[in-house]
Amino acid sequence: MKKKKRKLKKKVKFLIKLLLVIIIILIGILYLLKRVNDQKKYEETYEYKLTMKGYSTDDVNSILNKLEDNEINDLLNIEYNDLIPKLIKEKYFLFKNLNRYITYYEKNKKDLNEVISLVNVNRDCEYYENTKPADLTNTDTMLVNKYYYLEKDYVDSELTNISLSYAYAGNAAAKRVIDAFLTMYNDALKDNIQLIINSSYRSYEDQDEVWSNRRATYGTKNADNYAARAGYSEHQTGLALDIGQYNYDGDDDNLPAYEWLANNSYKYGFILRYPEGKENITGYSYEPWHFRYLGIDLATKVYKEGITFDEYYAYYIEK
Ligand SMILES: [Zn+2]
Repeated sequence: MKKKKRKLKKKVKFLIKLLLVIIIILIGILYLLKRVNDQKKYEETYEYKLTMKGYSTDDVNSILNKLEDNEINDLLNIEYNDLIPKLIKEKYFLFKNLNRYITYYEKNKKDLNEVISLVNVNRDCEYYENTKPADLTNTDTMLVNKYYYLEKDYVDSELTNISLSYAYAGNAAAKRVIDAFLTMYNDALKDNIQLIINSSYRSYEDQDEVWSNRRATYGTKNADNYAARAGYSEHQTGLALDIGQYNYDGDDDNLPAYEWLANNSYKYGFILRYPEGKENITGYSYEPWHFRYLGIDLATKVYKEGITFDEYYAYYIEK
């Protein structure tokens, strides 16, 4: 009896050991399978693919932060170039312009932030080259410059004559622009500045006459330096005002109104359209008198961002 019992005990012990060994082997196999699976999964991530392309951990982080999935996929089809991660880290980088940034940089060797600003506003093309129609889906936010034009028959639907109380004869602008100007006019008056509108809406035909006359006398280059071509003038939008100061006896180039407007006009929905030092971006000399209506929200955003409307439009509106 005792012998039989001992034999049974031994058998049970053996079976338990065997079972343990089998369990350990199974766990081992499962662990290995998981490892293989994890590795396979990792190899499918952008992180792995970008690293294999040559991007550093830091590059990968900014790529994942800034680019959309489809853009990352496109990036993976482009050969690594150490200029690419530097460009991506710039604030106003737009993926759709990547090749143009690279081409422009290689040709001009400017600072990358400048390359990005210039290419975003199409300065890698000549003025009036590769032009597009202005986006009329929201006229308050549309861009009209030497690359975006209005059709011959475009007139703002609210175009209204401006009262002679605060404009020279023959001026007209969109009604909402006149209303905004009037509020601004009254507030400027409290600071002893009397604003006056010198110029506002200009029709396609009027603009064409200015430009064509100039060209007939002095040639295309001179005409382009002096005036916008018809369709490309912001004055055709009915949203642009050239503002001066009434009854001021000092230096005409340095009107107190200019400083007041530069600092305050955004509160009423206007922005200084052609700032000093941005001639190559806007395509115009510094014009302290030229203001564009964008509505208070957008004007405030552009003002606070501290960039031209051309740059703002490229990065935030058109994208
Ligand atoms: Zn103007």
